Amino acid sequence: MNIFADLLPPKSAVKPSNKKTQAGPTIQKQRRGIEIKSKREIEIMRQASVIVATTLKEIMEITEPGMTTADLDAYAEKRIREMGAVPSFKGYCGFPASICSSINHEVVHGIPNKKKVIREGDVLKVDTGAFFNGFHGDSCVTILVGEVSDEAKRLSQVAEESLFAGINQVKAGATLLDLAIAIEKVAKSAGYAIVEDFTGHGVGRNLHEEPAVFNYRTRSIPKVKLRAGMTLAIEPILNAGKKTTKILGDRWTAVTTDRSLSAQWEHTVLVTKDGYEILTDRTKV
Ligand code: MG
Ligand code: MG
Repeated sequence: MNIFADLLPPKSAVKPSNKKTQAGPTIQKQRRGIEIKSKREIEIMRQASVIVATTLKEIMEITEPGMTTADLDAYAEKRIREMGAVPSFKGYCGFPASICSSINHEVVHGIPNKKKVIREGDVLKVDTGAFFNGFHGDSCVTILVGEVSDEAKRLSQVAEESLFAGINQVKAGATLLDLAIAIEKVAKSAGYAIVEDFTGHGVGRNLHEEPAVFNYRTRSIPKVKLRAGMTLAIEPILNAGKKTTKILGDRWTAVTTDRSLSAQWEHTVLVTKDGYEILTDRTKV
């Protein structure tokens, strides 16, 4: 199974629709192939992505032991709406919240819960998206809560390095295989497993668009050359133990089958003629 990493849609719910409501983004009908964004569309994606980057930067600053994942979700939703956007995740295929909050051996798609208390030493992944003027931004961070183990620090650091190794391959003319090879090299040389059950994706009018962005070498990688104006969500997930995951009974939360730690970082990235622009860059907000 290879599924876009930010929200595993229950299969029955993945039906493209042109319906628009005031409540938030709907899944737009996929156009054929990979969309090349116009200058105007890129500018809107920059704005959507700045909202995501600002929200995640603030979440990283306020997170502390004793808070619940529901507290972080409420904060994220409030800030995304204050900045004039709509949370991309809320209602997406029935997902009930504005962030995914996944702790320790939880890999992705953890559902915020007022009973889920964040503790010293936790490895907390927070993933969120903002829908602004018709376009989405999408990013994920790993937050090390208070004092964490050396293993947790190293895993998160290598996961972030693998993201940037992938991003560094991005330019017009490069291939998705180039990204996968670069990401895989960093993860494997550090001795970590790459989760294969979830991939990155194109992002734009839809939270998830073509192409799938794989984090490891496989024949399934779409054979496309990157072109200026494409926008990709690159989001490798690394496990300290085995690569395998399973979905819990809530139908969303993915966990490592061996209960080993998992870390993930994600950016929305614009392909340019000579390289890339990280649209969700938190250092610029
Ligand atoms: Mg995401
Ligand atoms: Mg994503």
